[in-house]
Amino acid sequence: MAQQRQNWVHHQAVEIVSGNSLIATEKLNLKGMTRKAKKGSKRKRQKTGLNRSILDVGIGMLKSAIAYKAKEAEAIYLEAPTRSLKPTQRCVKCWKLTKKDLSDRLHICSNSKCNHTEDRDVNAAQVCLAWARGQELSSKTADGSSSTDSPNVKYCGGFQQLAQLKRQKPRPS
Ligand SMILES: [Zn+2]
Repeated sequence: MAQQRQNWVHHQAVEIVSGNSLIATEKLNLKGMTRKAKKGSKRKRQKTGLNRSILDVGIGMLKSAIAYKAKEAEAIYLEAPTRSLKPTQRCVKCWKLTKKDLSDRLHICSNSKCNHTEDRDVNAAQVCLAWARGQELSSKTADGSSSTDSPNVKYCGGFQQLAQLKRQKPRPS
């Protein structure tokens, strides 16, 4: 099992890093997420299932492998601050927060002018990516503004600029 998991982690990490120069995810509080739900809690069954899937998949292992391989490949790997960014609740289109339960699998934006509807995890991933692009931009412009406030950081050059940035990095001699 351990060997299989390690192979899986390795292959996933290679695939993710080889196709992407900017990789974004969120900081996961693995300890908090795998903590047992209180006895008699309504969420107990739900939480047990979640614990199992987190532990089975070995997300922590996967993230370390991605971070390591990204560094090797000179790709950018960023972890968004989950608590302040709230990627699962935030709307990637308008940046408003919509409260969700674990059982809400769809993001349906509560902003009536937006109403953006998307798979919960896809939206959360897009929020992390928008945040990461903002981080990447502010590290270059160094204006110090916080990019967790707005996704509308104009960063349309995207991957071309990233590729340039990668080339500018000093290589180890
Ligand atoms: Zn929205």
